[in-house]
Amino acid sequence: MTNTVVITGASSGMGLSATKLFLKNGWNVVMADYDETSGKKVESELVQKYSADRVFFHKTDVSSSESVIDLKNATFKKFHSVQSIINNAGIFVKGAVHEVEERDWNRIMNVDVKSIYLMTREFVPSMIEQRQGTIVNTASISGLMGDYNMASYNAAKGAVVNLVRSMALDYGKYNIRVNNVNPGPTNTPMFQKNPAEVIKKFEDASPLHKLTEPEDVARVIYFLASSESESITGENIPVSGGFEIYSGQPVQ
Ligand code: NAD
Repeated sequence: MTNTVVITGASSGMGLSATKLFLKNGWNVVMADYDETSGKKVESELVQKYSADRVFFHKTDVSSSESVIDLKNATFKKFHSVQSIINNAGIFVKGAVHEVEERDWNRIMNVDVKSIYLMTREFVPSMIEQRQGTIVNTASISGLMGDYNMASYNAAKGAVVNLVRSMALDYGKYNIRVNNVNPGPTNTPMFQKNPAEVIKKFEDASPLHKLTEPEDVARVIYFLASSESESITGENIPVSGGFEIYSGQPVQ
């Protein structure tokens, strides 16, 4: 039987890299994303390469209950079972707490955190039934540590960092593993929105003096979703070039 994975945020960045890697490794892929223009364009390229039997795009707002239910229905109409979901869609909001607009606070909590609840609520019952499945969430090193001017993002990703532990505890008895990948600054459209001088600062601050590439993250997502990581569950796995290992003390 061919494995099937549902990947959110699949039109761009890490989700797109993960989509290509799962397809290359023989999985069926459901690409879920809000961005229909990019999603449809990528879908047609991938259908040409792998056939419409293996991949399709479904316009999805991961923060909407109706939209995630619609994604589930479209997924099970096409594929008989789902072995893995990748909760990767996310947004970034800048600012200290008092600078964040209420609508932006709600938006980031809905897209980066509530989406995991909605996706799990809709897809985990079939995994429980089949007594098998994996869930991978894209958290961030910004959930493990604090950052300047990233209060709502730190709060959202911090929630994901602990949510993975309760999910792993609750679903372990059904042979469902749940893990987070925690990227550092990664060379995707989300990060490329920064001015060149800011990107340079991040490169200089990295122990490896470079940004993480989306393909680096995709390989770890794939590892955590596949049977290669059989005994790993409830973990946060940084893929950051070592960004989060530094205490912040000045160089002597
Ligand atoms: P990206 O902006 O390139 O891709 C994110 C995708 O999510 C986009 O295609 C976007 O359309 C989609 N999306 C946004 N809101 C959505 C919604 N409501 N419903 C469905 N899709 C939605 O960004 P990326 O860097 O690939 O980010 C992927 C994940 O990695 C995010 O969760 C992000 O927070 C996290 N992350 C990014 C970095 C980084 O430096 N780029 C670092 C750590 C963690």
